[in-house]
Order: sequence, then C-alpha cells, then structure tokens
Amino acid sequence: MLTQNNHIPTILIIGAGPGGLLLYHGIQKHLNKNMKKFNVKIFERDLGPQDRWQGYNIGLNPHGIKSLIFCLPESLVARLPEVIPNPIHEKEYHGIIHRDHKGTEIFRTPPTRFKSLFEIAMSTYPSIISYRDRLRDLMLEDVNVQWGKKCIGYDEFGDEIWAIFQDGTKVKGDILIGCDGIHSSIRRQKLPHLQIFDYGITQVLIDVTPNKKLMDRIIALNGNVLVQKSFGQDGDTTFSLMRLIPIETDITENTPDDKIHYRISLCYTYYTHWDTRNKNINVNDNDPQSVIDHIKTVIKQHREPCELTDILLELVSIAPVSPPKDYEKTFYRTYNPPKRRPIQDINPMSIEPWESTRVTLLGDAIHAMNPFLGFGTNNALQDAESLVKYFSNYEKYGYKSCIQEYENEMRIRSSRDVLESRENCLTQNLPKEYNF
Ligand SMILES: Cc1cc2nc3c(=O)[nH]c(=O)nc-3n(C[C@H](O)[C@H](O)[C@H](O)COP(=O)(O)OP(=O)(O)OC[C@H]3O[C@@H](n4cnc5c(N)ncnc54)[C@H](O)[C@@H]3O)c2cc1C
Repeated sequence: MLTQNNHIPTILIIGAGPGGLLLYHGIQKHLNKNMKKFNVKIFERDLGPQDRWQGYNIGLNPHGIKSLIFCLPESLVARLPEVIPNPIHEKEYHGIIHRDHKGTEIFRTPPTRFKSLFEIAMSTYPSIISYRDRLRDLMLEDVNVQWGKKCIGYDEFGDEIWAIFQDGTKVKGDILIGCDGIHSSIRRQKLPHLQIFDYGITQVLIDVTPNKKLMDRIIALNGNVLVQKSFGQDGDTTFSLMRLIPIETDITENTPDDKIHYRISLCYTYYTHWDTRNKNINVNDNDPQSVIDHIKTVIKQHREPCELTDILLELVSIAPVSPPKDYEKTFYRTYNPPKRRPIQDINPMSIEPWESTRVTLLGDAIHAMNPFLGFGTNNALQDAESLVKYFSNYEKYGYKSCIQEYENEMRIRSSRDVLESRENCLTQNLPKEYNF
C-alpha cells in the first residue's frame, strides 16, 4: 500500500500465539497478494519455537476453523487435516460425556461423524479436539518470527509508533497490535482501567499420556468420547480433552507394550478458598511434585471413592514432575510443570468504548476467557480474520476507521463469549445435589 510519499505502512505484531500468527498469515495472503501493501513484523518473547509448552489438545469450533481457512495460505490449509484430524474410526469419536462425583453418567451426546474439518467448518458442531502443539508448528511455517523480543510498552510520536523491548531495542511502525496474551503489556498501557476478573476458582492443567492399562479403564468407563467432564458435589470439576497419537516405537517406561497411545489434557478446578482458608496446606507452585500431591489430597477430600475417582488420581499421578528425558520427547517436547493458576477473564465491554488509535489488541490480550466452553483461541482466530478484512479498507478510509470497525465488531462478539463462558464455569463449579 503506497500512501503519501510512497510509504508502505508497517504493522508490528506483538506475540506469536495463535492470534498473532494467524493475523500475520492473513495479511500476507489477502493484503500483500498482488502487491506489497504492508510490511509486517512479528515479535515473540519466547527464545524459540520449543521454548515453552504449547499444550496438547484444544477444541476448535466452526468459527475458528473458518478463520484458519480464510487466513492461512492454501498450502497450509491443505495440511490442516494433519493437525485437526478426523477421529480414528472405532477408537475415538466426537462428543461429550458428563459424570457426577460417583461416576454416574448424567449426559452423553451421541457419536457424531464428519467427513473432515472442512465439513465441520460448515456445521454448527461445537468443536473438534485438535493437536494444539502441531497447529502452532504449522502456523509458524513461512513466518519470520523475531524470537527473544519481550515487549514492555510503546511510545507514540505523531504518525509513528515505537514498540519498546526489554533488551533495550525499539522498533518503529505505523500500527501496533498487541497479541500478547492475558497479561498483555500493550493492554496495560493502552487500557489500564480494563481489569482482569478473578473467579475465585483455581485450575490445574496437566498433559498426560496414560499407558494402555489406564486407557482401557477410562474407555471402559466413558467409551472413546473425546471430551469428558465430571462434577464434584462440593463444586470441583474436571474436564479432559483426549486424542489418540499413534507412536511408532515404545519409548517410555510408562507405555510398555502398546503401539497406540492417547494424549489427554486434563483440567481440575476447585474453589481457591479451599487452599487460602486452610492454614495446614503445604504446597509450592514451583515444586511440581508438591502440586501433584496437593491435588491428589484435594480430590480425595472432595470426591467419593469410586472408579472415576481412582482414574482421576492415577491421571494426576502420572503428570511429569520434571523436564522430559531425551527418550520421552516424542510425548513431551517441552515441559509443562503442573501449577495452580487462578481462573480469570477480561470483558472488553466492561468499560466504555475507547478511542481507536494506531494501537489495538487481539485475542486473550483484550478478551481472555475461561476454558470451559473452549472459545478463547477460536475468538483470537476470528479477531485475526476480522482485522484482515477491515484492513483491506486501509487505503480508502485510513487506519483509524479500520481499527474502529474491528474494535466495534470484536468487542461485541468476544464479550458475549466471555460472559457465556463465565456463567458456564461459575454454574458448573457450584456445589451440587444429585438425586441418583
Ligand atoms: C486449560 C486451557 C484449555 C483451553 N482450551 C481451549 C479450547 O479448547 N479452545 C479454545 O478456543 N481455547 C482454549 N483455551 C484458551 C486459549 O488457550 C487462548 O484463548 C489462546 O491461546 C489465546 O491466543 P492468543 O494468541 O490471543 O494468546 P496466547 O496464546 O496467550 O499467545 C500470546 C503470545 O504472546 C507472547 N507474549 C506474551 N507477552 C509478550 C510480550 N510482552 N512480548 C512479546 N511476546 C509476548 C506469548 O509468549 C505467546 O506466545 C484454553 C486455555 C486453557 C488455559
């Protein structure tokens, strides 16, 4: 895009998560297709692609999949089925199951089958469980991420915007987009009055690869349904997202003689005051073993003895408590130390609309939401699509109008999902009375 003085505007993207990466691709695919209209630079605080745990599994809904298809280059769209594969027939099926604290089934969706993710994109199906780490690898292809660049703020001078990095450097651009997650430094500077909402609920996320014996017990209880939830009487919950990974060789002590393994992302949530009001607890979030021991104690205190509780305790027990050894890296490329984290969200409609400037926000940076309905990434992906579409009017209407229209659309859409997720999480974490 040539503006006055043949100047090609530069867009600075801060954060190479799913939102920032998809925005980068979308600009290249749609706005720089025939003629370079924007320079795009993307900065990430991590030192490299394998620096930080990316998680195993993630649910993508039709909105998120459509945005991926819209923004990614054709070559990567063709490879999406590698990272969002169809369930393996008779071994996995799309669906969700709910159980109470005793393991009694409350609800189960019938198995649903689709030809591919392209069919899901056109459906109203809630979500398909995908490989989060592999999706990130795919989205990193053809993107020149500048690693090790932690942004600590920005300066605006007239038509210029400067991103400031912790390493003492500054980079000049025309537009700055904060895609830097829930603790965004860009949001803190631009909208200091937009506060994070704390639910008073703690979550512990573990990613595990159960051995065949344990998987057989899980399947005997739940079947091969990919999303499994359970609700304790006192208000604690579990949800797990599972997928099969075929492994060529047996490489862990944990998985002796089976050739196929499931990967499970398990999230356990409970009231934060169970910890804060208990003077006797002894847990250190920097010591993974102490977190695991603590969670097992909480589960034993709040769940009745039954097969479901035994399975939960075993899943928690096999969470890695130290970084992976070389032979384990097929499962655990990077390490996710179990930690207690508060469940929080950010509602962009909780403050008056702000003035649109050269600085805007995308994804968790502006509308972090809890994971209960799996809407977070899907909204970040939709933000990227939306911003790309509005930027196509940059030449005609200027940056301010494009960003304002994007912010109007994003605020309404994402706020609805933040509040729906909040209500879902708070309701599901209420103490229950089951009458079975
Ligand atoms: C347990 C759990 C399960 C979830 N399940 C789902 C699901 O099933 N479906 C779904 O849609 N969502 C899910 N989510 C939510 C999802 O993880 C987030 O909404 C999503 O990752 C947001 O993407 P993002 O690109 O906006 O931010 P992030 O993924 O947070 O990426 C931000 C990037 O910016 C980088 N960064 C941060 N600060 C700086 C800085 N100062 N300078 C430079 N770089 C920086 C970070 O390193 C990171 O790479 C889940 C979340 C959790 C915790």
